[in-house]
Amino acid sequence: MHRPALTLLTAGLMLAYGLASAADAPTTIPAAAVQTAEQLRDKALHDDTAYKTVEALTTEVGERLAGSANDARAREWAIAKFKALGFDKVYTEPVTYPLWVRRSEHGAIVAPFPQSLTLTALGYSPGTPKGGLTAEVVQFPSLDALKAANPATVKGKIVYIGYRMHRTKDGRDYGIGSSIRIDGPVVAMGKGAAGFLLRSAGTDANSRTPHTGVTGFTDPAKSIPAAALSNPDADQLERVLAYGKPVTVKLDLDCGIEGQYTGYNVIGDLVGRKHPDQVVVIGGHLDSWDLGTGAIDDGAGLAIALGAAKLIHDLPQRPDRTVRVIAFANEEMGLWGGRAYADKHAAEVGKFQLGSESDLGADPVWQMSASVKPEARGAIEQIAKVLAPIGVAYDPKLPGGGGSDLSQMHHKGMAALSLDQDATYYFDWHHTANDTLDKIDPKKLAQNVAVYAVFTYMAAQANGDFGSAPGAFAGDGAEE
Ligand SMILES: [Zn+2]
Repeated sequence: MHRPALTLLTAGLMLAYGLASAADAPTTIPAAAVQTAEQLRDKALHDDTAYKTVEALTTEVGERLAGSANDARAREWAIAKFKALGFDKVYTEPVTYPLWVRRSEHGAIVAPFPQSLTLTALGYSPGTPKGGLTAEVVQFPSLDALKAANPATVKGKIVYIGYRMHRTKDGRDYGIGSSIRIDGPVVAMGKGAAGFLLRSAGTDANSRTPHTGVTGFTDPAKSIPAAALSNPDADQLERVLAYGKPVTVKLDLDCGIEGQYTGYNVIGDLVGRKHPDQVVVIGGHLDSWDLGTGAIDDGAGLAIALGAAKLIHDLPQRPDRTVRVIAFANEEMGLWGGRAYADKHAAEVGKFQLGSESDLGADPVWQMSASVKPEARGAIEQIAKVLAPIGVAYDPKLPGGGGSDLSQMHHKGMAALSLDQDATYYFDWHHTANDTLDKIDPKKLAQNVAVYAVFTYMAAQANGDFGSAPGAFAGDGAEE
């Protein structure tokens, strides 16, 4: 969704920004900075700023659906927190997006075996008519099967896709699960379907906790009711379908888009001592889905970035370059905060040294990859060397994408890292009522803080840059 058109990298721009020209000296990180980074790493492992931050956010604010009253409270909370942590500058930038609201949601099998279903509406789903939507279910094994279907078999029916995700360290099945959730309702609507259901894009098997998430709908006039069944409810629906008789389901959803809303990205800067206009950027997103309290998605990510920045703040002097933390608005319903930031700051992308956002939970970072100019590979290896003792492997062959919202700055040409967290259990809880603080292990969270503190500080102290320039990495490492 929302993939920007690729921009072309021209030789002129490369030269203008000193990118990959033959005369470029290798970027290196001075020995003193490496030593300080090692100290930051070791200190981070025993620092509880991040855990205390996500504990406070999830306790004092709770769920933070973009545009809700709690989202506005979260913004005030974040501004106060950034100030309390001692950032030199704290400011906001507006982000405007369609306001989607959820009021109530019910589902049931009407025939042949009447019973209730546990489900949740998907983002941008419209409500059903008064009295609900009752229609026959037509099942497809995959999104491709739905795409290939004759519209006559779909028209007026509720489409159901039952793809089952499995746990993996890299969470790769979410690519398939989320594409069914995002594109499935749009494809079904195009073939005349009355509604859309999917097996939740999640890896839990025995919990009646449906996983919400965004659809590809953006225009309320062009959408159909869409919801996710919990995994046990999807099993039940499939057993009923297996009898081979017509199965009728009723959806009763009260939700929909209600005009536009303007929220804000909250931004804090530790102003660089030598190069205040050059920036290393980290962050997480402040909004969450409304079913849980947004602990792992993405209270943890913001807390990791703030914990890392606080350690750098506490050093005897500011780093050479500015360290920026962004709490992005409305990531969940289409990277609105990340896209607004990238649109506003595209022209200054050459001033962005390196960036990465944390948005895959709170378990340890196990792999690092980078998209940087060739002359900066040595500096990335220096960072990797400091991170190796805490379990982070470096794969020079993989690109880095910058994480969810910051992927948008990466598309504009910002050099970026990917810091992959262990996602084995993340999709058990992601976007469900079970996204709560008890899923976060303070020790594992602290390892993440160590990783972010190390790379942020080392990038801020590097002699030379990592290759940020307009269009430099367009289309590379997309992570939406
Ligand atoms: Zn997230």
